[in-house]
Amino acid sequence: MNSADFATSLNLDDAGTEMYALVSELYPICRSITGGGVRETLRILQSRIPLTIHEVPSGTPVFDWNIPREWNIRDAWVKNAQGERVIDFRKSNLHVVSYSVPVRTRIPLEELKKHLFTLPDHPDWIPYRTSYYAENWGFCLSHNELMRLKDGEYEVWIDASLGKGHLTYGEYHLAGESAEEVLISCHVCHPSLCNDNLSGIALAVSLAQRLGQVKRRYSYRFLFTPGTIGSITWLSLNEAQLSRIKHGLVLACVGDSGKFTYKRTRRGNAEIDRAVAYVLRHAGSDHEILNFSPYGYDERQFCSPAFNLPVGCFMRTPHGRFPEYHTSADNLDLVRPQNLSDSFARCLSVLQILEENRAYLNQNPKCEPQLGKRGLYRTMGGETDGKSRELAMLWLLNLSDGSHTLLDIAEESGLEFGLISSARDSLVQHGLLKERPEEAQPTCS
Ligand SMILES: [Zn+2]
Repeated sequence: MNSADFATSLNLDDAGTEMYALVSELYPICRSITGGGVRETLRILQSRIPLTIHEVPSGTPVFDWNIPREWNIRDAWVKNAQGERVIDFRKSNLHVVSYSVPVRTRIPLEELKKHLFTLPDHPDWIPYRTSYYAENWGFCLSHNELMRLKDGEYEVWIDASLGKGHLTYGEYHLAGESAEEVLISCHVCHPSLCNDNLSGIALAVSLAQRLGQVKRRYSYRFLFTPGTIGSITWLSLNEAQLSRIKHGLVLACVGDSGKFTYKRTRRGNAEIDRAVAYVLRHAGSDHEILNFSPYGYDERQFCSPAFNLPVGCFMRTPHGRFPEYHTSADNLDLVRPQNLSDSFARCLSVLQILEENRAYLNQNPKCEPQLGKRGLYRTMGGETDGKSRELAMLWLLNLSDGSHTLLDIAEESGLEFGLISSARDSLVQHGLLKERPEEAQPTCS
């Protein structure tokens, strides 16, 4: 199968349904930056793609950080004087502040309130809070639940452990013709939240499955890491191999119904930036392209100044811009199969451009070659399809001077990349274009 066939013979509706099923399967698991929830998540992913699970011991230095102690939680609750669970981890894992230290105590409501977090503006929603690097404990609950708590003494129990263990991450390498790599990364550290970032995990898995079925020029590396500390760990352990990464995408918040949003690489005009911008522009739907900023997901680490890797961030509605963000309302209703499949289709189009983006040399550069005698020119006037195909051939012939790639030509001509690519096939078949050898390919930014 040619790399041009990334999306053909693929039922995108089925892909959306599969991604949504994976999101639903992972939703109940209590994940954090370390612990059993990440392991369980990665084991479920192993039933779909043969990823490797890496374990890095607590205390291992990774650049300016250390792998934190491993956190695991079995149960947690707050009981009132009648012994009723008024806050119950079993009902929602968002109820406990992630990385809470173990606690068993009895305290009055006023004291307890110092450890309670709510969202008064959304009184039905439970917020998501973490305390990774400061020893603390706490509970999150809806503001309505808080209002119902009566004065008196409460019994608090957090059955958690925080001790020597490991940071766990998943990695899947899919070899292509070239050792040069495309990096696809997503974070796996959030508990029951769907758009941020079970959607990103599901999209990465579907891309890995699809890429495994087609001929690939590039090799692909998929990372499933806890946010921030996971990518820092991976970069620290793989520093010697980073020059292989030619393009990359961080995937997050790709299942909501908002417009597509792409955050550029720190370089600002890398090939991946141009490919995503081209795809979003030609898809015809509303979208937004943001400049790089050192805030967001793991692109911050990949684009730190010493590495400056060409890694952008592909999203629908970015973190913090949807009201459900980091709350219990980021649930299975916010993410829809159709939105996931649209995100999947856009990513496949981007990867297809990267795969095919080569420079060619016109073999007949002295004036236009006579296309008619080769059967490449319309014999009848007025066929619009034929006309744009001829235009694509003329653009290809004119700009194939060895320094323009197919993406340059698609951008310059305003024509669909698929049309440019299929016109390229015809011209190559007729000996009018020849791919530049690897060493003569223009270097990407
Ligand atoms: Zn988040």
